[in-house]
Amino acid sequence: MSEVLTGGCHCGNLRLTFHASKAFEDLPIRACQCSFCRKHNVRATADPDGRLEIAVADQAKLSRYRLGLGITDFLVCRDCGVYVGAVMEDAANGEILATCIVNTLELDQARIKEPVAVQYEEETAGSRLERRRARWMKATFI
Ligand SMILES: [Zn+2]
Repeated sequence: MSEVLTGGCHCGNLRLTFHASKAFEDLPIRACQCSFCRKHNVRATADPDGRLEIAVADQAKLSRYRLGLGITDFLVCRDCGVYVGAVMEDAANGEILATCIVNTLELDQARIKEPVAVQYEEETAGSRLERRRARWMKATFI
């Protein structure tokens, strides 16, 4: 059963529309243990068969924070400070791959299962891209 979930930052500058190919309960919930995600107590999901639309009202208020390998944009609203998702470009085809921060979705919190802690610090840029091709989802900015 597919479903469409909406969410975004607190002030409304960044809006997410997550088209999931299955029920939210059937998607993985991950808690990345990198130093950035730990500070946000991140719970994230992505659906390789789904897609994410990211609507930006004011580009000047979108921070694309980078750290580590410098290949990922962590999307943070400059106005309200909410981290809504991360994206990277797949240089092979120009597609945008994304993961979505579950904390920012408008849904019954009881539907969010316990996250699985994940560590990616050993990855190279190449292995990171391979993992995200398999696990993240296509995204568009509108
Ligand atoms: Zn905001």
